[in-house]
Amino acid sequence: MGRPPLRPGEPAWPRVTDVRAREAAGWVPLPLHSFVLKVHSRCDLVCDYCYMYRSHDTSWRAQPRAMAPATVIRTAERIAEHLSAHGLTEAGVVLHGGEPLLMGDEALARTVRVLRTTVGPDVRLHLSLQTNGVRLTEERLDLCGELGLRIGVSTDGGRAAHDRHRRSADGRGSHDRVRTALHLLATERYRPLFGALLCTIDLRNDPVRTYEELLVHRPPAVDFLLPLGNWHTPPPGLDPTGRRTPYADWLGRVFERWYGAPVRETGVRLLEDLMALLLGATPQTEALGLAPVRYAVVETDGSLGQDDALRTAYDGATRTGLDVHRHSFDELLRHPGIAARQWGADGLSATCRTCRLHPVCGGGHYATRHRHDTGFANPSVYCADLAALIGRVRERLAHDVPGPTGGPGSPTEAV
Ligand code: SF4
Repeated sequence: MGRPPLRPGEPAWPRVTDVRAREAAGWVPLPLHSFVLKVHSRCDLVCDYCYMYRSHDTSWRAQPRAMAPATVIRTAERIAEHLSAHGLTEAGVVLHGGEPLLMGDEALARTVRVLRTTVGPDVRLHLSLQTNGVRLTEERLDLCGELGLRIGVSTDGGRAAHDRHRRSADGRGSHDRVRTALHLLATERYRPLFGALLCTIDLRNDPVRTYEELLVHRPPAVDFLLPLGNWHTPPPGLDPTGRRTPYADWLGRVFERWYGAPVRETGVRLLEDLMALLLGATPQTEALGLAPVRYAVVETDGSLGQDDALRTAYDGATRTGLDVHRHSFDELLRHPGIAARQWGADGLSATCRTCRLHPVCGGGHYATRHRHDTGFANPSVYCADLAALIGRVRERLAHDVPGPTGGPGSPTEAV
């Protein structure tokens, strides 16, 4: 299903002429500092909520299974070129998929060595791997240690929660295999490699129990992800009227359990970012707030794509028409879909711009704003839940920390 026509004057994102006009008026794109490399485009699980294989986008079918050595080299050269042109001495690279460990150990080692050698000794490269965990053996952890890779693992909590979605093609749940891997990763030997756990929220799971099931693995950080959805394919259980806010309630209970703990047990990035924004500090990620988006995605064939999550909007939503073989990352920065996400409040819908919460909320995840008729120029489908969560956290902070009341996180009439 291709992108349906939008109403006149309401593009999915700005036009090339809008970008040129902004540049003429003095806008300068901020350089990229993170690069997501799709080193393998297939997976050994068939999770039912996967945005790669179970959403509107089917472009993965045309992608080579693995990134060819020549594409790895070209990508590394483009990264080095970009960092050097902008005088950056630090950057992040995430090896992603599909399932990146399907690329094999030799290709993994070669890819990391090419990246490090090409950017050179003057750049501090933070390399990480985002995996489903089923292939994370002791030998692979040793290899990741040698290569200096930090590891993020996707898991949704205990067995029932995890295996409801994260299964093999034969229907077998993956929880036992992932738990074995996480048990290893939590040991003193491998713990320095442990990045974070990624947990997709399912409202059917008790929030506190889910959080505590994740805590068992002693993760340095947990990322809770709102299930991807938009105005034409709403997330499961969302109240379209906004009268009930089940996702805010769910995350609110995690917040109380996490924030109220006598000692800090782990980081919860979404909640830490929310607190940072309410207190006027800088968030760690771009999930909330108006910080410019500064990462790029490279597909296995070298195509430069937009945020993977946009696959849930329509077929081909991540395509830019650019690739590492012919285009630089500076050219990608001027693609309207990328540029608009560096424009802060100016990149938001009219509704969000008039909402008092927008400096904290940031309009919600870009993919969750999509409607067939108006593209991405909308508030997030999670608007009511985001507003309720911000209000709840703000209220707690206002009680504990004098000062944040009356700021941008104040309850708003606009939502
Ligand atoms: S709360 Fe809703 S209207 Fe306000 S910025 Fe967020 S998505 Fe936009």
